[in-house]
Amino acid sequence: MKHVVRPDAVMVRGKGSYLWDRDGRKYLDFVQGWAVNVLGHAPAQVASAICDQATTLITASPAYHNALELQLAHEISRLSRLPRVFFASSGAEANEGAIKLCRKWGRLHRGGAYEIVTTQGGFHGRTLSTMAATGKPGWDALFPPAVPGFVKVPFGDVAAVRGAIGKNTVAIMVEPIQGEGGVIVPPPGYLAEIRGIADEAGVLLVLDEIQTGMGRTGTLFAYQQDEIVPDVLTLGKGLGGGVPLSALVASERASCFEPGDQGGTFSGNPLAMSAGIAVVAALTTTGFLDAVRARGNALTDGLRSLSASGIAEVRGRGLLVAARLQAQRATEVRDRAFELGLLVNAPRPDTLRFMPALNVSDAEIEEMLSLLGRAL
Ligand SMILES: *Cc1c(COP(=O)(O)O)cnc(C)c1O
Repeated sequence: MKHVVRPDAVMVRGKGSYLWDRDGRKYLDFVQGWAVNVLGHAPAQVASAICDQATTLITASPAYHNALELQLAHEISRLSRLPRVFFASSGAEANEGAIKLCRKWGRLHRGGAYEIVTTQGGFHGRTLSTMAATGKPGWDALFPPAVPGFVKVPFGDVAAVRGAIGKNTVAIMVEPIQGEGGVIVPPPGYLAEIRGIADEAGVLLVLDEIQTGMGRTGTLFAYQQDEIVPDVLTLGKGLGGGVPLSALVASERASCFEPGDQGGTFSGNPLAMSAGIAVVAALTTTGFLDAVRARGNALTDGLRSLSASGIAEVRGRGLLVAARLQAQRATEVRDRAFELGLLVNAPRPDTLRFMPALNVSDAEIEEMLSLLGRAL
């Protein structure tokens, strides 16, 4: 189906920060499966984990416990300080589950409240309800009728969140940094303030960390830098290191699903679990996240040094970084970079986004800057 515009190249192989097409052309990859391959292409730990698992047990059925599901759920709970986990395959599915959980919680504990406050420019997925939660201009008109129950406020505006809460509100749902929106970092203290508002109003705080989580911003979860804990957390993208895997994570208080409310044929399948376990082990190795922060600084500094070539502003955290150009020419620069063998993303007409593997090397960052300089 014609669902996306893409270049003619056909990708066949990847290793670390590089991707090859079937004509043998090599690309330095700063898209990495859309911020998915946190350990790069075909990482040895994930490859051997899924190879071993493929000959042991691929799917056990969600009707039964399996050992790896218990193990990964336990790890995520320990690291997030949220004790309840439901696994799915895509980010949208995890968010869809979060929305259902909030609505159920509102029915049980807040007199039938169902409205969720989300943000303009936010992104939560492409199912009908996650599209309704998303704040992309025009999206609410795409597939009418839109799913009701979402109220949009400007991102980073604490007063707007407070003003949007009423008796029908059940939750506030935000990304710690808007990723698809173009790497928009809110003012310092934003998450802590909306955590406070949620507590005062007696509503849930849902953090969509599908893009910011799994080490992307320099800590395992972005909210750890704000010293808060959400009621509900969603993870995806990097969680499986390239294998489809997402998670809906919740506090005991928010975790109100009863048998029959939620499920999924592939939920907790051992193959995806084995990938997630390998990723979590790598990300929690001593020094791994320190290195993400150091490389994030190197990338940010390097992009700033290209200001004479047309970069006006560099923003982001860790290895989730965007550069705003002086001109509205981001897609042209992206296409020129592609010709030069560099993959970057253009989330806005004036913005390029960089989401390399979290173990990208300094030399690869240098190579990227040099290719980008030529493209600019
Ligand atoms: C990518 C993304 C999603 C959707 O994930 P899919 O796996 O594409 O369904 C949701 N929220 C955020 C913040 C994302 O970046």
